[in-house]
Amino acid sequence: MEEWQYQIENQVDTIEELEKYINITPEEREAIETTTAKWGTTPYFASLIDRDDPRDPIRLQVVPSKYEKENRYGIENYLVYKENRAGEEKRPDTIARQYNDRIAFTVVNICGVYCRHCFRKEMVVDKSLELRFDVDEGLEWIKEHNELREVLITGGDPLLLPDDRIEYIIRRLREIPHIETIRFGSRLPVVLPQRITEGLKKVLGVYHKVPIWLNTQCNHAKEITELTAKAVWGLLSSGVNVGNQAVLLKGINDDKKSFQELHQKLLNIRIRPYYLFYLEPAPGIDHFRTPIEKGAELIRDTIRGHTSGLAQPMYVVATNIGKIPLMPDYYIKERGEKEYILENHYGELTTLPVIQDGKEA
Ligand code: SF4
Repeated sequence: MEEWQYQIENQVDTIEELEKYINITPEEREAIETTTAKWGTTPYFASLIDRDDPRDPIRLQVVPSKYEKENRYGIENYLVYKENRAGEEKRPDTIARQYNDRIAFTVVNICGVYCRHCFRKEMVVDKSLELRFDVDEGLEWIKEHNELREVLITGGDPLLLPDDRIEYIIRRLREIPHIETIRFGSRLPVVLPQRITEGLKKVLGVYHKVPIWLNTQCNHAKEITELTAKAVWGLLSSGVNVGNQAVLLKGINDDKKSFQELHQKLLNIRIRPYYLFYLEPAPGIDHFRTPIEKGAELIRDTIRGHTSGLAQPMYVVATNIGKIPLMPDYYIKERGEKEYILENHYGELTTLPVIQDGKEA
C-alpha cells in the first residue's frame, strides 16, 4: 500500500483518532457527537493543526461546529439549483453545466478532507444528494456535445481515483476531437501531497496537445509545507499547470495578514493564485460568511500594488448563471469627454485619453 492510500484508509474521523492531534473542546465534542454529516481529515493534514488553539485555521476547516445546524442565508437543495440540475437540458448526473463550452464532470463523491465550508456539501458532506457516478455515460454525453471545448474533472476529489481510472478518463477525453483542455479540481496537493506519486505523475505527465491544468484549494499559509511544495514541483515538472482557488472564510483568511501571506506563499511554491471565491449560499455554512465587499477590500489593501501582481487572484462568486467577478472597482473613477480619471490602490489619481474609433477624442 502506498503512503497516500494508507492515509485514506486511516482517515481521522472518530473522536478517539482526533484526540491524537488536538485537545478537543467540549463544544467541538458535542458538535461531533451530534452531527449526521460526514467529517474527517487525512492524518497528515490533522498533524498541521495546533493542538491547543480552537481558532486554528486548519482546525476550523475540518472539525465540525455547532453552527452547521444553523441556516440563515443558505439555499436548500443548493447544488441542484446552482448546477441547474432541474433545468430543461437533460444531462447525466455526472455533468454540471453553466457555460456553453465547458462542463464540470463529477466523477466521485469522496474527499481527502471533508471541508466544513464545502458548497457541494449536500453531495459530499451531508450525502443528502445522491448522484450516479457513471463515468462512461458522462464520457458519451461529452462526445455527443461538440460545442464543448473544456472539461473540469471534479468531485469529491478526482485524484482519489486509482491511477488506471484517471488514465482511462484522460485517454477517453483526449480521444474526443472537440476537447481542447482538461482541468482537474483537487485539494489533494494540499491535504494529501503524498498522492502526487511517480505513478500519478506518469499518468498526468504524458505529452499531449490537450493540456492538463490542475486547480487546488489552499485557504491559509499554514496549509503549505515542504511536502506541498514538492508535490507541486512534481506536477509542474510533469507538465501540469497548477493554480489555486481559495475560498474567503471568516476567521480563517479574512484578515490582512493571513490573506497576504497566503497569496505570497502560494507563489513561493509555484502555485499561481487563480480565484478567490466568495462563499456560496449553501446551507449550514453561515459561520464562515463575510460581507461580499470583503474580498475586494483585501485585494485592494494587501495585494494590488502591495505585492507581486502574480499573487493576485480574481475575486468571483460562482452562481447558477456562471461566475461573476467582484474585483475592486477603484480603477475607473470617471469617464469625461476627453479623458478617463483612474485611481490606484493609494487613492492617487491619474488620467488616460478616451479613445474613439482608434483616435484620441
Ligand atoms: S475537498 Fe472540495 S469537494 Fe471535498 S469537501 Fe473540500 S471543498 Fe468539498
